[in-house]
Amino acid sequence: MNTRGYVAHAARNDLSPFEFDRRELRSHDVALDVLFAGICHSDIHQAREEWGASTFPMVPGHEIIGLVSAVGSDVTRFSVGQRIGVGVFVDSCRRCEHCLAGLQQYCSEGMTPTYNSYERDATTIAFGGYSNYFVIDEDFAVHVAETLDPAGAAPLLCAGITLYSPLRHWGAGPGKKVAIIGLGGLGHMGVQFAHAMGADTTVFSHSSSKAVDAAALGADHFVVTSDPEVLSHHAGRYDIIINATSADIDLNPYLKLLSLDGTLVIVGLSGIPVTINQGLLLAERRSLSGSQIGGMVELQEMMDFCGEHDITSQVEVISADYINQAWERTVASDVKYRFVIDASTF
Ligand code: NAP
Ligand code: ZN
Ligand code: ZN
Repeated sequence: MNTRGYVAHAARNDLSPFEFDRRELRSHDVALDVLFAGICHSDIHQAREEWGASTFPMVPGHEIIGLVSAVGSDVTRFSVGQRIGVGVFVDSCRRCEHCLAGLQQYCSEGMTPTYNSYERDATTIAFGGYSNYFVIDEDFAVHVAETLDPAGAAPLLCAGITLYSPLRHWGAGPGKKVAIIGLGGLGHMGVQFAHAMGADTTVFSHSSSKAVDAAALGADHFVVTSDPEVLSHHAGRYDIIINATSADIDLNPYLKLLSLDGTLVIVGLSGIPVTINQGLLLAERRSLSGSQIGGMVELQEMMDFCGEHDITSQVEVISADYINQAWERTVASDVKYRFVIDASTF
């Protein structure tokens, strides 16, 4: 099927209009007319090879909301006209221990990313969601509540699940103190989830202008980090701290803020190695951990949670010809809080 999208032909190139073909429907495939595609900072990291060598040509995009336009002969979970969401991976081995446990993001053979990779046939480049049409195996798609704003729902597919999963895993809830570092696309979802789960929620931000927004999203406290001395006033306070920044920040001052047995979870991935003062971990049996998106079961659970709690991303909807400027503004932390592309403009 002929598809229109935006492409980067090489690292650090501007994106430009691109036409390509998507595969014909296989029996378990669902076709969707894309409505909206979110811009994740990971799109920028990968197109600029900040995480290592990438696969080009690259059509980025892994926060995809659409309407089902056709279904393969054996599809059982979706029908034409329904809302559908696609996230960060489009396949996995389906038989390893992690896949069988619904943790496809940790597939032993490696998940098949939505873009910047080859499909499982190892010959077809996977093209992502900055496009007007998509084809997905139904096992790797989720239902999206009809009550949610579809533009605001797109970022749930990556930003949303990436914060929901660690908050659930490390037990955010009543009586727990949670802090989110970085009020960006991921961070602003984390604040809404931590608040909805009943945790006392703090934002650490290097942007003083975001205080009012943080409170509106449900944060109980807002701390501006431009003066590192400020952090020392919060020592030993938090059960869970999530680093959702895209930048190379010093994590050591944040380790000091963890209480006994507290955990600092890294989800932000600048791609630059960090140095840790090990003594800070020993001192109060603290943990430093990482978390990567979420599996298909949890992705649907998160989408349903958002439907029940009316949680979406705060978005700035743009047309396709604004993508390059939107990337620059994302890098400059100048987005409140996610750019989402209107797919009718591809
Ligand atoms: P984003 O919207 O650009 O937000 C990043 C935030 O980091 C900014 O809003 C800013 O928050 C903070 N920040 C930026 N530059 C900073 C600096 N120099 N010093 C201190 N703070 C700074 O990015 P995103 O889309 O949320 O993604 C965040 C990171 O998570 C990226 O590295 C992305 O690749 C990664 N990611 C990981 C996963 C996963 O599965 N683990 C999934 C998706 C994305 P303040 O203005 O509030 O300080
Ligand atoms: Zn992402
Ligand atoms: Zn697997």
